Amino acid sequence: MPPQLGTQETAQDDLHGGRAPWGNGVRAPRHAQLSQSIKTDVLVVGGGITGSLAAQHLAARGVDVTVIDREQPGLGSTAASTAMLQWEIDCSLAELTGYYGFDRAASIYRRSAAAVEGLSGLVRALGINCAFRPRSTLYIAAGETDPAGLHDEHILRERAGLPGMFLDHGGLLSRFGIDRAAAIFSPGSADADPLLLSWGLLRDAALRGARVIDAVATAYHDEPRAVTVETDGPFVIEARHVILATGYVMPDFVRSAIHRTASSWAIATAPQVPGNLWPGGELIWEASEIYNYARTTADGRIIIGGGDDDTVDPSERDRKMPQKTEQLVDSLMKLWPAANPAVDFYWSGAFGETDDGLPLIGAVPGMPRVFAAYGYGGNGITFSFMASRMLAELYAGRSERWFDAFAIDRPSPTAN
Ligand SMILES: Cc1cc2nc3c(=O)[nH]c(=O)nc-3n(C[C@H](O)[C@H](O)[C@H](O)COP(=O)(O)OP(=O)(O)OC[C@H]3O[C@@H](n4cnc5c(N)ncnc54)[C@H](O)[C@@H]3O)c2cc1C
Repeated sequence: MPPQLGTQETAQDDLHGGRAPWGNGVRAPRHAQLSQSIKTDVLVVGGGITGSLAAQHLAARGVDVTVIDREQPGLGSTAASTAMLQWEIDCSLAELTGYYGFDRAASIYRRSAAAVEGLSGLVRALGINCAFRPRSTLYIAAGETDPAGLHDEHILRERAGLPGMFLDHGGLLSRFGIDRAAAIFSPGSADADPLLLSWGLLRDAALRGARVIDAVATAYHDEPRAVTVETDGPFVIEARHVILATGYVMPDFVRSAIHRTASSWAIATAPQVPGNLWPGGELIWEASEIYNYARTTADGRIIIGGGDDDTVDPSERDRKMPQKTEQLVDSLMKLWPAANPAVDFYWSGAFGETDDGLPLIGAVPGMPRVFAAYGYGGNGITFSFMASRMLAELYAGRSERWFDAFAIDRPSPTAN
């Protein structure tokens, strides 16, 4: 097994270093102490964006939900996210087609697009104040991907019924002021403040009756009628089902042959002077295995992230922060030379990757009452939304064939 973050010793501080520009002085939702053993229909372990989405959806369906977090909800990886809420997946449609065939790959892409649409609708319906903005994306040529490769990807997306427009060098430069060989421009994505989004969802879940409790899950006993979860205190929680939403810290019994832990870095500039951002504030990401990505914020900053590598150790990750910050400033100036490079925020975070860019969602093999939602790369939040809908279906006893694409024990499509 590749190195992982240990379940017991990994605290939220190990999941990220530095500081991101999120939260805007808002306080975390209240959570109670566990003062007795309790029973619940669904226990969600982890109060980040994944757990909050799952809890909100189940509570809205009238399910009795309890969320536990061992620290402050939202202050794990969610607080380090750059929150580009894209339907385009880390693996291009062409790559995914190579792994699983066109029909399956196209269906995953369409479901991802539907997830962003669903999330947008949810934020609107609940009126969550989280700087949520519909955005288009620019997927720009970089590294090994040339204009012909991007054009092929565009044609494949068109065949899948996905929206988008191919831009050659001239079109990209004249319309967006970006000097790259080509790009695909696509509507249908969004950005947000991930911490306010997560907290808003958790608050809504609580208003609908979900309990939010400060406790550590230390052991899980999957029994025929319920799961008994031991905690760090004298009390246990008995649940008909458990949803594991513990982010990049996965319990040992969740085994995946295709998941690796890595690290990512990001910076946010000082607010730019008005008119100094690219025109539509598109989410920009590079079509390359090693890529940078950039977005703007509601208060006029530019965020650029990337430089991902396979560092797992949190102190080594944080030691690299000055060097990665310099590299990100350099990348920003190449991408958008007009930017004021003054950096207000820099941070790092643990990150996950899978061989096919897809998450791990579903029942844990051998533990039918324990569901898991893991393996999030650059589309973490889009996939967390999808997980909340899939796991609610599994809870209701319904499974669909397409869920298999996310199975926790699926083999690697790249293995010979
Ligand atoms: C630098 C960076 C940039 C990113 N950019 C993007 C992006 O642009 N778009 C995107 O969609 N995604 C992005 N991601 C990924 C995204 O942030 C993650 O997918 C997402 O935040 C994961 O949320 P989570 O709720 O699963 O995990 P977390 O936010 O880590 O929440 C897990 C919670 O579980 C709790 N916990 C753990 N173990 C226990 C236990 N035993 N008992 C009780 N509680 C426990 C923790 O305290 C924590 O609060 C990025 C990530 C990083 C690091």
